Amino acid sequence: MALPVAEWQARIARLWAALDPAVKERLAAASLHDAVRLGCDLLRSEEEEEAALVRLCHRARTDKEPAAASRYREQGNQEFKRGQYQAALRLYSKVCLEDISRAESHGYPDRLLPKVLLRKAECLLCLERLQEAQDILRALESKIALDGIMTTHLTRLKKLSQLKVKLGEKERCPEPAREARGGIQGEPEVWEENSRISGASSSLSLRFDAERGRHLVASQDIEPGQSLVKEEAFVSVLCPGESLPLQDGDTAWDTGATNADLYCHHCLRQLLASVPCQGCSYAKYCSQDCADMAWQQYHRTECSLGALLLTLGVFCHVALRTVLLAGFAEVSRLVEWSHRGDKNLQNPEAGCKPLSDAGAGSRGIPGCGSNGRYQSSYQALFHLLPHTEQHSPEHKLLCTLSVVAICKQLQAARLEAAVLNQESPQQWSEPKTCEKTSDELSPELKTVAEAMLRHVLQLQCNAQAITVMQELGPGDGAVVDKKPVRLATAFFPVLSLLNHSCCPNTSVSFSGTAATVRASQAISSGQEVLHCYGPHWCRMRVAERQQLLTQYFFECHCQACLEELESGVKSVVSFRNSFSCPKCQAQMQGEEDTLCCSNEACATSASRDHLSGRLQELQQQIKKALDLMRVRKADQAVKMLLKCQVDAGTFLSPDHLLMGEIEDHLAQVYATLGKWQEAARHLKKSIEIVEMHHGPSSVETGHELFKLAQILFNGFAVSEALTTIQRAEGILSVHFGPQSAQIQELQEMKACLSELPRNILQRT
Ligand SMILES: [Zn+2]
Ligand SMILES: [Zn+2]
Ligand SMILES: [Zn+2]
Ligand SMILES: [Zn+2]
Repeated sequence: MALPVAEWQARIARLWAALDPAVKERLAAASLHDAVRLGCDLLRSEEEEEAALVRLCHRARTDKEPAAASRYREQGNQEFKRGQYQAALRLYSKVCLEDISRAESHGYPDRLLPKVLLRKAECLLCLERLQEAQDILRALESKIALDGIMTTHLTRLKKLSQLKVKLGEKERCPEPAREARGGIQGEPEVWEENSRISGASSSLSLRFDAERGRHLVASQDIEPGQSLVKEEAFVSVLCPGESLPLQDGDTAWDTGATNADLYCHHCLRQLLASVPCQGCSYAKYCSQDCADMAWQQYHRTECSLGALLLTLGVFCHVALRTVLLAGFAEVSRLVEWSHRGDKNLQNPEAGCKPLSDAGAGSRGIPGCGSNGRYQSSYQALFHLLPHTEQHSPEHKLLCTLSVVAICKQLQAARLEAAVLNQESPQQWSEPKTCEKTSDELSPELKTVAEAMLRHVLQLQCNAQAITVMQELGPGDGAVVDKKPVRLATAFFPVLSLLNHSCCPNTSVSFSGTAATVRASQAISSGQEVLHCYGPHWCRMRVAERQQLLTQYFFECHCQACLEELESGVKSVVSFRNSFSCPKCQAQMQGEEDTLCCSNEACATSASRDHLSGRLQELQQQIKKALDLMRVRKADQAVKMLLKCQVDAGTFLSPDHLLMGEIEDHLAQVYATLGKWQEAARHLKKSIEIVEMHHGPSSVETGHELFKLAQILFNGFAVSEALTTIQRAEGILSVHFGPQSAQIQELQEMKACLSELPRNILQRT
């Protein structure tokens, strides 16, 4: 997804294989500047490649298709008739708010009506249609009063009061005042900005050395939970993502609803009712403001290129948007400057060194402005290392031809003036004097292509995924299960200063396009501040981690890697996720094909393949149980999961993560049945295992405690719910901050529990 579609990659691989060895050599040694010239020549002589690209683009149609809306509506209605409400809602959200009223008039079953009404009120609030929102909330209240509190979930009641608060706020004060009020709730965060690095805390300092490159070090002792970096993405592009699996439906059916349909393409907020782009069927926004801003800043250029950008992948798209946001003047200034430093670029040793000390200012740290300040700017972004020498020449060819193809398309679509910020509308809306053939790129577009090539290569090491917590499951249950999902790819020049560690001391969270880095543990003055690029020591063995890290062109020497590699300490992953002896339950050992029982007296052996086969089979069974849960056959799902648990116990270590997952699933099913005590019992076992693997103050443990809080809350286990809420709050606020949605939800639960009428409390 980051890279171009497989067919284009395969074509370029064939082209590369057929190239003259002399050309290959030239390309391997080429600077970015020369690579673009070479790419232009190649693409001109290989017309076939261009034609193939055009054909590939036809598969990703993004032009307006008037039939689409009604098709979604029909599909939604079909799901409706089959009782697949979540699927229906997803489809409806592709069309717009009107469809929810339609759902209502379709006679939504009574049980689900409050949920749809809540959804609708939420949509209306977002659209600032306050009067209508209020009417719905009133109707809902009387409905709940009628049904009595025991038949509706407390969660729903909580949501209702939440919406009422929001409504009250909207009525009382305009937007900015509301945000100011948000700051008063919870603990105000201590934040003093660094005078030398924008968006970084004053407790950090920027250092530079040959081994570690630019990096951040604590200049004073740091407390867990303290914010260290708060940065708005310089650029971000929504990843189209895969079609979301339909939680309610049969697995075969696919709505085609992806992230691109569910989040604003500009600010990345979740879409309830969307403002589609007038020009294409792809871009959708949360508001007219976002649509206008996107159009002004980049979408007027990107709009007609949608299919090409989807075909060539997110990295190319980010590269294009980066140059559009930077503006041509800045792009050409820095590209020209980089040519003066080209000697350095061609030097393979230049890996961690500044492009040119002369350009970086006397203070010597690349990317800093002339005042010595490091800012989240295009200049800083430009200085992220492209590792031009380390990428394989074949990969360089793929990236070069892809960016050249985009620039040719810009020229052919007469968008050049827009790219070059020649702001006279007549100039770029009227056809130029004659049909300019797409033969030769103008010198300006060659400069743009060169900058884009640099950015695509930089992204391999510096792309930052923006993730969100996405709701799993049918969504009408009382317990919300969420997992992080990659939403967008972005450049964060300040965040990029953090080096990687497999056992990092920070945690990153996102809100829209803004990232916040917090200390996940105490960091003492002088220690380097580190961030995990993906391969975490709790989730992967050292060999897998090192393999994944090769794309960043370095070998990890973090504490965890050194211990596992040098002293032969066995990875916690392999130790806890081991097989156990079918006879005596002791741990099975061995690196070979045959595993032996660690209990010498037992001496049982088993083949690794056999045990792995059983593990796979077990995972299949669990999947089937989850499918049953989705179609609301909860009783059958419970039976199946209990069987899986017994089976797992005969060959997996009791600490195996899968044992925890089974417990977690059981808790989830019992919750849908309203059996809160059973649910809590299973979830507690899952929490024990998660704590063992990820640590008691990890994000993972925090999420599990959050779920437990919801279960206890719904089960009216008031005092236990309160202590669990407190624990979850403690952990999650370290990772996400006191203002995060999770923390606010926990606080609302707390408030709701304390307001419960006495008679309900006495019943328990
Ligand atoms: Zn938006
Ligand atoms: Zn558009
Ligand atoms: Zn490591
Ligand atoms: Zn044994």
